Amino acid sequence: HISQKLLQAQESGKPIFSFEYFVPKTAQGLQNLYDRIDRMHSMGPSFIDVTWNAGGRLSNLTCEMVNMTQSVYGLETCMHLTCTGMPKSKVDDALKEAYKSGCQNILALRGDPPREKEKWEAVDGGFRYAKDLVRHIKNEYGDYFDIAVAGYPEGCDDQPDADLLLEHLKEKVDAGATFIITQMFYDVDNFLEWVKKCRAIGITVPIVPGIMPIQTYASFMRRATWTKCKIPERWMELLEPVKNDDVAVREIGKDLIAEMCQTMIDNGIMHLHFYTMNLATATSMVLEKLQLLPSVVKSPPSLPWRQSLGFNR
Ligand code: FAD
Repeated sequence: HISQKLLQAQESGKPIFSFEYFVPKTAQGLQNLYDRIDRMHSMGPSFIDVTWNAGGRLSNLTCEMVNMTQSVYGLETCMHLTCTGMPKSKVDDALKEAYKSGCQNILALRGDPPREKEKWEAVDGGFRYAKDLVRHIKNEYGDYFDIAVAGYPEGCDDQPDADLLLEHLKEKVDAGATFIITQMFYDVDNFLEWVKKCRAIGITVPIVPGIMPIQTYASFMRRATWTKCKIPERWMELLEPVKNDDVAVREIGKDLIAEMCQTMIDNGIMHLHFYTMNLATATSMVLEKLQLLPSVVKSPPSLPWRQSLGFNR
């Protein structure tokens, strides 16, 4: 179970990390991804997770990928599973597939509303919220699956009341979730405050921060806008002037993300979860900078401009 690994990291004070992958649309994309997952295995992630697309071929591919990474590559795998926008039988089939693959970890989610609908509406099957899925998994499988749920340090679209959103997070944990993975963010102080609020209302399970490394300026802006996450002013001051230079963006982005991760580690957050976007470079640069890769390759000598931008190392 992943939550055991998280608790062990917490107790030992030794940071660990994990990688998220999404299901590619083509067979060639899938093959390329398998090769990359295989290579990234050597970085030593404590687990990986695979996203879910409700219904259709892509959700079958999630199960196929989970089977491959868990039972063939032997990687501790967490399968994302949404509970709305598809028949309940599909949820049960996916759980059966995960069980057969030896996968013991599910990230239980509600799912987003269909693109054509502005507001989310409950459909068939009795699942309205992620907590319903948590309960369902518990009822059907007892403690076999470790169940993660999603957390939102900067709020989410359909719940403007931050306190209520926290209460709903607690309901998911009370229903049986054993750890939390958060939405991506770049405002580390806000995240640390949010963790304190979670603890204050009695959420005691491990909280895993979701980290999106910076690959290019355009993708950084697109994802931050899409998830409505706050970008600290200093980050924009550093990244905006070099936005057309991908190498400089990646280099500065690596320093900023590593700094954010180090702040979390210094504050006792011992697990870092990377949204890899199925790419290796930006994530491995951050891990190298944090000296968390198995055989530490020394960083290149400090470039003069890095110190003038305020980075220590
Ligand atoms: P819930 O926890 O059910 O919350 C949804 C809303 O319902 C919230 O506003 C909450 O406040 C409200 N609510 C909950 N309980 C109550 C109650 N009792 N009364 C009134 N309101 C209530 N989507 C995918 O499709 N595939 C993925 O693989 C995927 N992976 C994700 C991974 C992470 C780490 C995160 C953060 C999100 C992911 N998502 C994914 C997106 C997710 O499906 C959406 O954010 C979705 O809109 C909410 O899902 P949830 O599980 O947080 O919902």
